[in-house]
Amino acid sequence: MRLVLLGPPGSGKGTQSVRLAGTLAIAHISTGDILRAAVREGTELGRKAESFIRQGGLVPDEVIVGMVEERIARADCSRGFIFDGFPRTIPQAEMLESRLGAGPRAGNGGAIDRVLYMDLDEESCVRRLAGRWTCPADGRTYNQFSQPPKAAGKCDRCGGALVQREDDRVGTVKNRLKVYLEQTRPLIGFYEKAGRLNRVDASRTPDQVFAELLNAVRQGAKA
Ligand SMILES: [Zn+2]
Repeated sequence: MRLVLLGPPGSGKGTQSVRLAGTLAIAHISTGDILRAAVREGTELGRKAESFIRQGGLVPDEVIVGMVEERIARADCSRGFIFDGFPRTIPQAEMLESRLGAGPRAGNGGAIDRVLYMDLDEESCVRRLAGRWTCPADGRTYNQFSQPPKAAGKCDRCGGALVQREDDRVGTVKNRLKVYLEQTRPLIGFYEKAGRLNRVDASRTPDQVFAELLNAVRQGAKA
């Protein structure tokens, strides 16, 4: 079984992909992890990737896909895998199809059997990710949406003024989401056209979302 999990920051994609991998007894593959491991182990592709990173550039799709190919050839992927954070672009998805979509290692009609899209509206993503305020004196954190302090801008415990990190500001989070959606929207269309996409409502509780993801995988396996 070969799965891809797509979803915006804040959708809970990381947690759900690890849980799915455990339940389905398949490998969990995050390109961030692969990249760090390849660089650490000094493989040929790892050295290539490192030189791009060192020059401040993005690692080319060709190098990323090469590392993914090496990774899925390992024994723990014999029952399948779930990609978390890959593919990120249409060229990556197309490369994956052309390299794995034919031959003895191909899945049900292509390189990937099912693509699960965890759908969450922008406002909910922002609520989950942004609005975090921290007390510099004792490190307590608050969330202006889900866990606000009793008095606005003041720490419940010590009364000190709360500060907000750049990463936690609504504007920064909105910008991250915009970049994500611009990159991902074409991928959704790509897999939808191939008849391999399932949308799952990610606004519900983690257990409900997990049950729905599992259901989509099992229905897809029968189809
Ligand atoms: Zn405090």
